[in-house]
Amino acid sequence: MKKIAVYPGTFDPITNGHLDIIKRGIKVFDEIIVAVALSPGKEPLFSVDERVKMISDMTSDMPGVSVESFQGLLIDSLEKHHAHVILRGLRAISDFEYEFQMASMNRKLASKFETVFMMTAEQYSYLSSRFVKEICRLGGKVDCFVPPEINSALIEKFKEKR
Ligand code: ADP
Repeated sequence: MKKIAVYPGTFDPITNGHLDIIKRGIKVFDEIIVAVALSPGKEPLFSVDERVKMISDMTSDMPGVSVESFQGLLIDSLEKHHAHVILRGLRAISDFEYEFQMASMNRKLASKFETVFMMTAEQYSYLSSRFVKEICRLGGKVDCFVPPEINSALIEKFKEKR
């Protein structure tokens, strides 16, 4: 049986930390489906189509990785893809409480799925899309946190917004 994992998130935008998890994940799973949540509550900077396109471009050279958007319950998305694992990244301890809650809720909804956490590389353990956006919005450099294409997309986006 193929080991298929769904890696859900907002990815607004994808960072080197997210990519680190995908690279680690694909060593363990046969397939990873990066599932981009619409997350309207987070008022994303990039549209869902832009986020999907950016991740697809960044992962095009990674066999076994695909990208799609999803809305509704995550477990329905797993069902659709015959996946059994929800992949999540863990940074600092502060992630733990939210992740614990979400994994527990998903287990309650569908106990056949497992949530697997992967620890990011140390240099990404403080990195979040939220801070990357904030730094870029204020005119700071974020090229050490995101791939060059995402850096350009961020700069463009904030130009549009001015
Ligand atoms: P969400 O809205 O689901 O929190 P995010 O895009 O912020 O979406 O995060 C998606 C997943 O990626 C989460 O499991 C999160 O912990 C993980 N993640 C985010 N940033 C990093 C990072 N720097 N290193 C490792 N994992 C990360």
